Parts: sequence; structure tokens; C-alpha cells
Amino acid sequence: MGAVVWLEEVGKNDLSVVGGKGASLGEMINIGVPVPGGFAVTAQAFRDFINRAGIAEKLFDALKVDVNEEAELHKAEETAKRLIMEARVPKNIEQAIRSRYEELCKREGEQVFVAVRSSATAEDLPDASFAGQQETYLNMRGADEVFNAVRKCWASLYGARAIFYRVEQGFEHDKVNLSAIVQKMVDSEKSGVMFSSQPSTGEPLVVIEGAWGLGEAVVSGSVSPDNYVVDRNSKNILSRYVATKEIMIFRDPKTQKTVTVKVPQKKREATVLTDNEIAELAKYAEILEKHYGIPQDIEWGVEKGKIYILHSRPITTIGNKKPAAQSEGTGKVLLTGLAGAPGAATGIVRIITSGRELDKVRQGDIMVTKMTMPDMVPGMKRAGAIVTDEGGMACHAAIVSRELGCPAVVGTKKATSVLKEDMEITVDGSKGMVYEGRVALAAAPKPAAAANAGVVVSKPITATEIKVNISEPDRAQAAAATLADGVGLLRIEHMILGLGKTPNWYIKNKKSEEYINELVKGVKTVADAFYPKPVWVRTLDAPTDEFRAMEGGEGEPHEHNPMLGWRGIRRDLTETDHFRLEVRAFKKLHEMGLSNVGIMLPMVQHVREFQKAKAIMVEEGLDLERIDVGIMVETPGAALTIEDFIEDGIDFVSFGTNDLTQYTLAVDRNNENVAELYTELHPAILKLIEYVVERCNEAEVKTSICGQAGSYPEMVKRLVEIGITSISANIDAVAVVRETVARSEKILMLKALRNRD
Ligand code: PEP
Ligand code: MG
Repeated sequence: MGAVVWLEEVGKNDLSVVGGKGASLGEMINIGVPVPGGFAVTAQAFRDFINRAGIAEKLFDALKVDVNEEAELHKAEETAKRLIMEARVPKNIEQAIRSRYEELCKREGEQVFVAVRSSATAEDLPDASFAGQQETYLNMRGADEVFNAVRKCWASLYGARAIFYRVEQGFEHDKVNLSAIVQKMVDSEKSGVMFSSQPSTGEPLVVIEGAWGLGEAVVSGSVSPDNYVVDRNSKNILSRYVATKEIMIFRDPKTQKTVTVKVPQKKREATVLTDNEIAELAKYAEILEKHYGIPQDIEWGVEKGKIYILHSRPITTIGNKKPAAQSEGTGKVLLTGLAGAPGAATGIVRIITSGRELDKVRQGDIMVTKMTMPDMVPGMKRAGAIVTDEGGMACHAAIVSRELGCPAVVGTKKATSVLKEDMEITVDGSKGMVYEGRVALAAAPKPAAAANAGVVVSKPITATEIKVNISEPDRAQAAAATLADGVGLLRIEHMILGLGKTPNWYIKNKKSEEYINELVKGVKTVADAFYPKPVWVRTLDAPTDEFRAMEGGEGEPHEHNPMLGWRGIRRDLTETDHFRLEVRAFKKLHEMGLSNVGIMLPMVQHVREFQKAKAIMVEEGLDLERIDVGIMVETPGAALTIEDFIEDGIDFVSFGTNDLTQYTLAVDRNNENVAELYTELHPAILKLIEYVVERCNEAEVKTSICGQAGSYPEMVKRLVEIGITSISANIDAVAVVRETVARSEKILMLKALRNRD
């Protein structure tokens, strides 16, 4: 092939000509997927350039340095880049780039803005990935700018990080070439991502997320996107959720810089996609999954009414594009900890000491911190994985990471001192291991694999209801797509702590209405997504140490053990001003017709607390005849006096086994030093659960579990045998829990039948 090729002229067999990125774009065009037009400057053109310019020898000599010596490495970078930037590019190559750009402009009917991206390839291992090591230049226009950007891409092959990476990975510098991809920029008026299969369960559902403007807003999680779910078999749109879209990003035509602006009022609540667009996107998702033989995570944009597919990569991710693979564990072990959230990822370390440093965490980076705080959630959404010093299996980092589908290793004791900024590490959240560098990743066996193998993933009907836990409202659609029978726990403290200001700050600053509206907004997102299925919303349960970091939290008491302290219902009943705001939010939600919202009280230990809370609800005008009110059973006190609560009219109970375990066994759930003693399967806990379920079943009061133990097959089996009404699991565990429940129920029925005979 010549110095330049149109993207449509290449395909998956041309890795050595145009690298992985170029081959994938060409491949997509050839199977009928609308990819923005463009061309590639081939890897051979680059090679030709360094040979004919006479710089090859000098260049590769300059790279013979000890890459662990910072100064040597940077000297190598400087020399190599200078050689590339100053050498004369052969006339025919320069001319080919310039005239191909002009031809592209003719095709597109205007002087187009283009992105110039690097697509590196190794001669002996053409499918090796160098993703993210080289540069991309956006918004280039005119042949001069384009030619210059191509040269800069070539030079970026010799950036310090890229040189270091190749040496570490055993690639020879003179065997690695670079193709530059020149592709029309899409100025999307709307854009987003989509998954060709349900990302948690692998079910044949296309899940589309979309918002106004350029895709960065959706990918970075800075806007709540609309969410549409399409059944791949029937082609029906199963659900359509229209979010309130506060901001959008677009390119300022004058400066060509991207700017973030507020979405105009009339578009905020408007649906982003038409039915036709949803159908067309779902069609491309299906084509891509079929073609690649594995579920895809796809970026799309719509410009002047035309859909473009911008990128497609395998879903090794759940929900927010997080790799969910297991490492083969052949690298040097840097740290061990608890397997907080499954999956594995390789990325660059970013050490975070507070929510103010979140900007450091870019898509796919590894977030390393002492312990995550609710204001770190936006960064957690972008992170490839999370590693913490502190915490046990039920700490904030583990709970939120599981919900976001982000691999996490928690309680390593020393991650923030052992790991260094910019280090590349591999995190295996399934085994609780952290490795140096990139460790070979093998795809984790997921339900998606069954779907690919042509096995239809179906949802077994179970007598025991299967529900889902949610902490972040913007995970509502992912949660609803599990087809759960309702939400067994919606934690509102994550919403509240995410506001950055304590409830008392709102009260003091006379902004109570604003606070109520925030609560209504968050809960409504979930209640809408599940309506009419029940959503049990738990009243505030945040320990004092979490409030202290927030505005208004300066005066929070320093407690010796916040886990045993002023939290949950005990705080709400002493700070009734705050509790009343929560109750008013519930009232508003019911007035909006969201009759599926139930109220669940945390940390209850005596029936008096339930009575007092109910009295306040009645004072605030809640109609308790029409609203389900229940309690979390997470203290042995509540479990052993459950009859009193039943007598007082609870509608349901839910076992908070994360706390029930720590309070029954005297094991702090956040203390990594005693984490080994922390087990929900201790006979004392099973006895307490059994006692409560028996009493509740006699009185026909619903029982459920929303602690982490509800996602463990062994516990699930026991709970079905005991006769629990429902089980509420993390999003990623719903499918497995459902299967375990179905099997356990069948075993029970078979046993009963056999005993009858
Ligand atoms: C629990 O204690 O099991 C529970 C679900 O509540 P949290 O983890 O929020 O304390
Ligand atoms: Mg709890």
C-alpha cells in the first residue's frame, strides 16, 4: 500500500499497515457501520520517512538508555523527538498527506476539522496494544495543520512514557511503527454510549445512554444521561428513561475549544433520541457484537441528524466501562487486601487525598486512597479500579465499587505509601491482589459468555422475590435492566454526602426546600425507573466522621467509634429538624404519584424508636395506611425484640447484615486488622435471622436482606430454606442470586415431593 489509504480500504488484516485503531475503523466501515470518514498515513510511510531522512540510526541509538534513570529517559525523548520534528519528510509522503486531506474535504463538502490519532503497531506482533501511549491532536484544519499533527504523532512514539513502556514490555524500538489516523471530527448535537448486551448480566438487551452535545459529558459522568433499553430479539424498546440533563459540552466554533454550558430549559427534560434513532443505534450495536463475537461498549454521536459510531471496544466493563476480567497473577505482587469488588484492570496510579483532587483521575486510571468518601464518587466512575488502605468488605469503597462495577481491592493497609504516582499497576479485585505493571488478563467467565455461545439467557421465575440495592441514583437504569422485582435498599446518604454540604448547613442557611428537592430528585430517579415495583428508601444513615469533611460538618463530634455512635435513626430522632425534611421529601414523592416508595429506618434497636419516627411522620401528614414503613434489622437488639415491632405494625424488615455482623461479633466492619473475623455466616447471625423470619412469617410481615451477604450463594440458599420473602443484591450479583434462588427453591420442592412419597 502507498503512504496513505482511505479507512474503507483497510480491515482487520491490516494491523501492520494501520495499527489496531486504523484496522478497527476500516473494519467497521466495511460492515456497514457509519464511521466518520478519513484516511490513514501508513506505518510504512513512517518507516520510509526515518529511513530516507537518514535519521534511523541516530534515533535508535539515542534510545539505548537505562529507562529507570529519569534524566537519561528524558534526554532520549528530547533527542528522538527533535530528530523527528526537524528531519525533512520525503516530498512524496508530505504531498500524499496534504492532497489526501484536500480530497477528504472535497468528499465532505467543506474544509473539515479532523482528529489526528496515533495507531502504533509492532512488526512482529501486529496486534500488540500500545493504547494511550501516543498522542492525539483534535480540531486540526487545513493541510499545514494536518501535516504538522501527523509529524507530532510520529514524534509521540518517542515520549518518555512510551519508551519506558516498550522497554518494560520487551518490545524493540526499531520494530514498532506508527500509523497516523486522520478522521473527520464529529460535532455531535447529541451523543452517548451504548452496550450491545446488558453489561451486568449479559442479557440480549441493548442499553443506550445519551445526552446533549459532545460525548465527553456522558463518558466522564458529569451529566445524567437518558437511558433506553432495547430487546435485541423483539426489537422493542423496553424502557425509556428521560433524565434531567443539566449541562452539555460543545465546541465553540470561534475558539475550537470545548466549553461546558447549561442545557437550555426546554431541552433539559426532553428526550434525546427519537424512536428511529434508538432503533438505528440498536441495529449497529447488534451488527458490531455479531461481527466481533463479543458484547461491545460503543461510543456514538449524531451530527446534523446523522448517526456516527465513534468507537467500539469489547465490554470488559460493567455499567461504566470498567474492565471486568481476572488476572492470571504472574506479575510481582505489590500489595494484598480484601477482594472488595470483582474484576481486574491495569492502569496508572493516581493517589487521592481528598475529593478536591479528583480531576487527577482520568478514564481508566487506578484511584488509590486511604478510604473513599462520597464526594469521590465522580472519580470512582472514571477509575479503572480502586485500591484503599482501609476498610473491610462492607466499607464505602467496596459497596460503591461493586455498584459501579469497578474492580476494587480494599484494606491493603499501605496502598498510599507503597504505590507511587504514575506507576502502572494491575488490580485484581476478585482475588484482592495488586501487581506491578501490566499482568496478562483473561476474560472473566460472565453470563455474557453464555449469550455469545448462542445460549439464551432467560430470567427464571422465583417465588422468593429478587431485588436490587442502589446507592447512586444514576445507576437506576442499570439496576432496572437487571429486571429485579424492586429496590430492597436505596441508600440516601450517598446522595446527601455527594451534595458536599451537611443537612444542617441547609437548615442553618434557610435552604431546606433546596435540600428536600435534592432528595426528591434522587429518589424519584430510582422510583420512576422501577415504578410500580416497590422501592424501599432508607432514611439517612451516615456516621459523624463522613459528615466532618463536608461544608457545615466542622462541628461534628469526634466519636471514639462512629460505627457505634450517632448515626441512623438515633441521630434523626435527636435532630428531628432534619428528619422532618426527609419525611417532607417522602410526602412530595407520594404526592407525585410515586406510591411505590416505602420508608426503611436504619440502626433501630428498640421499638420506641420506630414509634417516635412514626409519630413524626404522622405529624408531617404522611398517610401511613398507604405507605409501607419498615425497619432494618441490623442490631441484635432489634432482632431479639422483633415481636414488639410486629405488634407495632411494621410492614417489612430487611436484614442489614453488614452491621448485624459487626454488632453481633464485635468486629468493626471498617477495620482491616480484624477483617478475618468478619463473617456473616457465623451461626449466631444465622440464628438471629432465622428467629426474625419465623416471627415475621407467622405474622405475615415481609422479610428481606440488603446486606452484602444477600449476594453470597451460600447465604442465599440458607435464606430460601428459612423462608425469606425477598433478597436484595448488588446490581452485578442479581443474575447469580436469581439462579441460586431458583435452584434452591427447586431443591426444596423436590425434597418435599420425595418425602411425601
Ligand atoms: C447493612 O448494614 O447491612 C446495610 C445494608 O447498611 P449499610 O451497609 O449501609 O450500613
Ligand atoms: Mg447498615
